[in-house]
Amino acid sequence: MTERIIKAPTGTKLTCKGWVQEAAMRMLMNNLDPEVAERPEDLIVYGGSGKAARNWESFDAIVKTLKELNNDETLLIQSGKPAAVFRTHENAPRVIISNSMLVPDWATWDEFRRLEGLGLTMYGQMTAGSWIYIGTQGILQGTYETFAACADKYFNGSLSGKFLLTAGLGGMGGAQPLAATMNGAAFLGIDVDPSRIQKRLDTGYIDKMTYDLDEALKLTLEAKENKQALSVGLVGNAGDVLPEILKRDIIPDIVTDQTSAHDTLNGYVPMGMSLQEALNLRKQDPEKYISLAKKTIVEHVRALLEFQRRGAVAFDYGNNIRGEAKENGVENAFDIPGFVPEYIRPLFCDGKGPFRWAALSGDPEDIYVTDQAVIEAFPEDKKLVRWIEMAGKKVHFQGLPARICWLGYGERAKMGKIFNKLVAERKVKAPIVIGRDHLDCGSVASPNRETEGMKDGSDAIADWPVLNALLNAIGGASWVSVHHGGGVGIGKSIHAGMVIVADGTPEAEHRLERVLTYDPGMGIVRHADAGYERAIENALKFNINIPMINK
Ligand code: NAD
Repeated sequence: MTERIIKAPTGTKLTCKGWVQEAAMRMLMNNLDPEVAERPEDLIVYGGSGKAARNWESFDAIVKTLKELNNDETLLIQSGKPAAVFRTHENAPRVIISNSMLVPDWATWDEFRRLEGLGLTMYGQMTAGSWIYIGTQGILQGTYETFAACADKYFNGSLSGKFLLTAGLGGMGGAQPLAATMNGAAFLGIDVDPSRIQKRLDTGYIDKMTYDLDEALKLTLEAKENKQALSVGLVGNAGDVLPEILKRDIIPDIVTDQTSAHDTLNGYVPMGMSLQEALNLRKQDPEKYISLAKKTIVEHVRALLEFQRRGAVAFDYGNNIRGEAKENGVENAFDIPGFVPEYIRPLFCDGKGPFRWAALSGDPEDIYVTDQAVIEAFPEDKKLVRWIEMAGKKVHFQGLPARICWLGYGERAKMGKIFNKLVAERKVKAPIVIGRDHLDCGSVASPNRETEGMKDGSDAIADWPVLNALLNAIGGASWVSVHHGGGVGIGKSIHAGMVIVADGTPEAEHRLERVLTYDPGMGIVRHADAGYERAIENALKFNINIPMINK
């Protein structure tokens, strides 16, 4: 098959019948832009095999349908395939999406892969199948905040002179080196695939790349010694390299991991063989591949536990590596704490989460205008201002220029309306598309990640993301999605996404006000329901009506 290069159209000329449809089409295409996607030729955006559309025929049919879609119609997407168009109304979402959903008893990787093989489903990850992936920046601020929270908790607020060790420098994991150096750390990241590290070098996310462990350790330890912020990528398999570092009795200050351990066939690579041998085995004998990947995960997690025992601060970074290790005999895998209960949950209680936006004009200048608007909207929030200024300097855009920053209840609606005004007053050249990761305060049930260790034990309750999606659809989000299996794999999570377009119209302003209030509001409600005092206080403060709490 000839390779297709997809790039979203830019500029102000519409190719669809309205800006909302145009936004959906551009963001779908942007997800597959070679600058953005990890394996665009296979429609894979990030996160193991997270796809934007089921296959190329479906992609073409989605684009064609979006071009023809009227302003009072809604397109239904069933696991990456356009399923139907219904007449709805102007304030309804233009697209609703359900990806990778399976009936609970059938929700296993084996069954999923059988159905995928029959062409009946696809893995949507979180923002891959819901068309709001913005490249590695999407996770950059979250990673930066997590490392900063770790610094606050364990290292007096700075990672300067600290050694941070991790693996996995893919679509999301590739944010780790820049987030670490932004916090002052000496960073060593291992990835089995040199092209992944090269991509981070090309986009300015990592400083150096080497194939040699001695050189990698020398560079990192010197940087630690000199309190120099430096990031090094080492080509290698974590299963081989971590035990070797342990053998040399070199103990990092912090250790974590972002390999795609949630997917033992298409994500994680077994040790003891070259990458090419692994890729051949994946095709020729998937069962053997999975069994070797699981063995490697066991060694990998044993090494993480040993680093922890010898004094490193260890945490799981949301890839279910502990779950896989435990299922395969590492009984104490969950001695490594998850990053959400460790660092993120208090933010969720404030309705805070990864608010992101992209400039449909394609002009970076539009993002700089929005950056300034954020700084002017929240001048008192020094951390936020520092982040926006730093991102403006350090982040290379991938595909459509975009920005991310964590905002809470009240803040998101405020910013949405400001962006709409910028569009109306032509201070930016085209509409702005606003969305978020599914990893957010009120949109995900994932017991090994976002909802790990909930106060009331409600980790596996999945009503919340469904309520979130339904409410956002009622509010008039531009597209709404419900997915299964993102982040941690099939059977392990259910989550929802929303995207809303600020096109400068008064109708958009109403929709923005509603959706950007409901969405973080669900985060406060979900955490108040679980008994978190901070969320209950927020519900009272913001007058959120929770009948059995806020009477
Ligand atoms: P990805 O598939 O793009 O990248 C994974 C990387 O791991 C690849 O570069 C691969 O070469 C490397 N790798 C696989 N096995 C390896 C091994 N044994 N040793 C060394 N390198 C190995 O995935 P991604 O988008 O970067 O996401 C990584 C993981 O993090 C996924 O499980 C994802 O679900 C999870 N995730 C976490 C968060 C979070 O906020 N913590 C957010 C998104 C994704």
